[in-house]
Formats: sequence, C-alpha cells, structure tokens
Amino acid sequence: MRGKLVAGNWKMNGSLASSQALLKAILPPLATLGRARYVVCAPYPHLATLAPALRGSSVALGAQDLCEFEDGAYTGGVSGAMLADCGCRYVIVGHSERRSVFAESDETVALKHAQALKHGLTPILCVGEQLAEREAGVTESVIARQLDAVVRRGGLEALGRGVVAYEPVWAIGTGKTATPEQAQAAHAFIRGRVAGSDRRLAEGLTILYGGSVKAGNAAQLFAMPDVDGGLIGGASLVPDEFVAICRAAQGAQEAIRI
Ligand code: PEP
Repeated sequence: MRGKLVAGNWKMNGSLASSQALLKAILPPLATLGRARYVVCAPYPHLATLAPALRGSSVALGAQDLCEFEDGAYTGGVSGAMLADCGCRYVIVGHSERRSVFAESDETVALKHAQALKHGLTPILCVGEQLAEREAGVTESVIARQLDAVVRRGGLEALGRGVVAYEPVWAIGTGKTATPEQAQAAHAFIRGRVAGSDRRLAEGLTILYGGSVKAGNAAQLFAMPDVDGGLIGGASLVPDEFVAICRAAQGAQEAIRI
C-alpha cells in the first residue's frame, strides 16, 4: 500500500535561525503522528546545520534542487553527493520555478533526476501545466512530455524509484487550489500512463499534489484515491498550518487502512 507523504518546500526564505525555529516548532507535534512520511526541503546553506536535529525523527531532510552534473568545474553547483553528505534523503527536481525562472529544460530535469538516484536521494519530480496550457486543453500532453523525458533517460524503473508531484503552475503560490476532482484527474492520468507499461510500478508510485494546499483544503485533496499527499510551499513556513496538513495526511492514511 502507498503511504501518504507531505513535503514542505521552504523555497528561498528565512535565515538559519528562522529555519531552526521552524523545525523546533514542527518536530514535537509531528513526532506524535503516525506512519505518514514527512519531509522538509530547506535552503542549501541551512541543510548541514539542520540535519542533526532531524536524525532519528519522523521528518526527513530534503533539498530544493541539485546540479545535473557529477562534480568538478561547475561553479555554484551543488551535487547529489554533497546533498547526501549533508544528510539529505530527498531532493525536488523540476519545480516550475526552476523550469520557468531558470529555464531548465525537460532534459536538464531528467539529468538531475538521474543524479539524485545515483546518490541515493529520492527525487520529487514536479510536473504540471501553465494556465494557458490548461485553457488550451493540453494539460495531459504537457505532463506526459515532462514524465517521458525522465523515462527516456532512466527508464520507467527510475521514475518508480522517485516521487512525482503534480503541481499545476497556476495554483502555485496563487491561493487558487485545483479542486480535488481536477487533482484526481491529473493524478489518475499520471498513474494510468505509467500503468500502461507497468501496472505494479504504477500502483506503488507516490504522486503528490502541490499548489496552494492549506490546512483548510488538505483533507479533501488527500482523500482522493490517487493523491498520495502534498508538496507544500507557503503553508510549510507556518508551523500550525504545516502540522495541520500533516495531520490531514495521517488521517487520510488511517482512512485507507480501515
Ligand atoms: C510549491 O512551492 O511547490 C508550492 C506548491 O507552493 P504553494 O503551496 O505556496 O502553492
């Protein structure tokens, strides 16, 4: 059975002190929750300092990006090996802000995905359409193109070793959440596309929803059969909101097991 997973994406926010304070606020309540998985994706410079506080806790450390190359003359790059060395277990790849602001191509994202796996990190692969693409009716072909780039490079098995996050770009940071039905339709499309080649792998694939998830809408989204949790931006910076979202994931997980 797929478990629920909630990952917080802190983006480029805060100071080392505020990141530490955020962890201090969320760790005790999350320790009391059950078996859902929790991840916080912190800014690069904070990772090594935060790692000891997470060791032995129910929360894993993640990064928000990594370099597509192995190591060497790539000034400013941060390799998968460096992230693993800092205690990271997860890394976001292909976030829409990386794709649009930093012009990352599908192929670059696929290289990053491969690097993450090579270094024992679980990639959280973000896919999703722009508003104009949804309005043009090409949501599914956009998602398919983004997934296929990763499968072309690493095979379907590579996709299965990571997590996929469906994040409609029009819902990220805008306060406009996809309806549970819209999220379910996209997630079912992703699972169905993978199932076309490997049904078992598709069944086990964790697919998160991201885009203005809040304490007030998380439970409805996580109740959808193909929504396995969330990738949370803004609300992950607010301890009470993030904990409430994690609680909703835990509740949804318990509902499945009944
Ligand atoms: C994100 O950054 O991936 C995200 C989903 O942001 P928000 O929750 O703020 O929409």
